[in-house]
Amino acid sequence: MPELPEVETTLRGISPHVLGQKVTEIVIRQPRLRWPIPPELAELVSGRRLVNAMRRGKYLLLDFGNGHALIHLGMSGSLRVVNTDEPPSFHDHFDLVFGKRALRYCDPRRFGCLLWVDGEPQLHKLLADLGPEPLTDGFTADYLYERTRKRSQAIKQFIMDSKIVVGVGNIYANESLFMAGIKPIRKAGSLTQKNCEDLVRDIKFVLQRSINQGGTTLRDFVGGEGKPGYFKQQLLVYGRGGEPCTRCKKPLKEVRMNDRTTVYCVACQK
Ligand SMILES: [Zn+2]
Repeated sequence: MPELPEVETTLRGISPHVLGQKVTEIVIRQPRLRWPIPPELAELVSGRRLVNAMRRGKYLLLDFGNGHALIHLGMSGSLRVVNTDEPPSFHDHFDLVFGKRALRYCDPRRFGCLLWVDGEPQLHKLLADLGPEPLTDGFTADYLYERTRKRSQAIKQFIMDSKIVVGVGNIYANESLFMAGIKPIRKAGSLTQKNCEDLVRDIKFVLQRSINQGGTTLRDFVGGEGKPGYFKQQLLVYGRGGEPCTRCKKPLKEVRMNDRTTVYCVACQK
């Protein structure tokens, strides 16, 4: 599933090829994504220049001056820049055409979306309740400490709640909790100030490291080859249940929490 680093990498991969370019056409082959692509979208963006492209959480916002196209990659979506004469595959559901090149959206499972946002995008119902971006100064130990007070929810579920902080997917939650030495099942409200400092630092670290790795794949966003936006990670616990802990060598414990795979070390994480 594309997570925040993949979405950020997608933004960086496509931006140089489409920013400042004028949309000549929209080709919609399958409007039924998670929500239907609004039929008026073609008229709204045709002839408009893409003036800015941003990410908020796992959403991409394409600013056309008169409003924003809002794109989510869902469970299996990807965007890449292709030449318009390249034939689409079965799962290529729409093209934003910029002259001879197109931004092509592929999504086998169709859980993603393409919507139109009038006015201020941060007020849109999908974005309005989102917590701070994890890599900004808005996400601090003091903030996490404050928000966790009196909360009995497990800390892993807590940091995966996009109202608390965006973009901490399952893999990143597992990895950052291991690095911070905090058991995923611990009550959020039991975290100390020091725990919050460690966890915030390690969430930023794992996400930033992943974005840096994504930087090596930027050329995959152009042309017909391969699947852009997904990259191998150096994982300490996720996918390693039963294998020895990298710190203490005891076998890592794997459990299901909220239907998500959770792996941790009973010795190193308190
Ligand atoms: Zn250990």
